[in-house]
Amino acid sequence: METGNANRKKIRGKKIIIFLTSLLIITAASFTFLNESIVQSKPDYDYATITNKVQKVGNHADVWSSKTETKEMKFIEDQQDAAKEASYFPDQDTAIREMNKHWALFPNTAVPGDVILVRHDSPGTINWQGKEYTLSSFGTGYYTYLPIPMSIEAGTYDIGTQQLTIKDKTFKKSYITVSEENQNIRRNTERIMADQKMIDKARSQSADEFLFSPDSEFMTPVEGERTTPFGYTRYVNGEYSGSHTAIDWAAPTGTPIRATNDGVVALSENFYLTGKSVYIDHGMDLFSQYIHMSELKVEAGEKVEKGDIIGLVGSTGFSTGPHLHFTFWVHNVPSNPDMYLGKTPFQLVDEKD
Ligand SMILES: [Zn+2]
Repeated sequence: METGNANRKKIRGKKIIIFLTSLLIITAASFTFLNESIVQSKPDYDYATITNKVQKVGNHADVWSSKTETKEMKFIEDQQDAAKEASYFPDQDTAIREMNKHWALFPNTAVPGDVILVRHDSPGTINWQGKEYTLSSFGTGYYTYLPIPMSIEAGTYDIGTQQLTIKDKTFKKSYITVSEENQNIRRNTERIMADQKMIDKARSQSADEFLFSPDSEFMTPVEGERTTPFGYTRYVNGEYSGSHTAIDWAAPTGTPIRATNDGVVALSENFYLTGKSVYIDHGMDLFSQYIHMSELKVEAGEKVEKGDIIGLVGSTGFSTGPHLHFTFWVHNVPSNPDMYLGKTPFQLVDEKD
């Protein structure tokens, strides 16, 4: 694990900003305007307060030297960034604690197939499981998701100054029987490869910020019976077929499928293997995937909000009956959606440190 060549001066500057920011947050209780701008977790309220302050600075521009004004504007910008980032955490104390750390992991214990969110106080990269991940600026910090491969060994891994504990998990086996005709679908590798190219391209372009709002928890996308959980080892007609890196819900054809959270539709296509499929970008290289649908209700490029109907349950592509096959893709690695259902990544904070 290593960070890129982060400049020491920058780190020192950042530390000072964070120190000042935290000092201001801590003293916020005694100042009404700060109390309003930082303590309130609703971002629109924060922005309204900050906008008022920006206007005040503007009105007094004639009596202020331009240097002081620039300093003040920078100060307000930092406050705005800190308030925006803090609003994503469950409460103010957690925000202060996590935003003052050099490195933070959400969460710091995981199992194969999980995903963690990493925060660092400086820009740079992380080498994780043979791949390099660039940290993206958000608020006053730098973030990236890291996928935990299905093949990872249990143990302790260093990420910056933090330790990630990977626990063992045994996945059950699942046996399915399909018709010869259905089996043939999987043998047309040329068509599958052509579709995969398009899917990989869509999944490699993600928004450089979190597209869901601060308290928007990921929701279960369909009402149905959970038939296959994430991670089951699959055998198709007695042959080993890899891990089922998704959750299946059986539901009648035509049951509405909803966006698990806010985002932008990256793909809405009828693919050979996965049938009518939708991919939604939630920002920072986290995508949700919905396949085998009977009908597509959105188009690529469309902005969606959590709960919007994006398609209907079906059995298109390589499928044995009407169901939704739903998963997350993190930097092009399938990851267990159960991690985030009913939560946001920022709520997976370990309380003990
Ligand atoms: Zn499935």
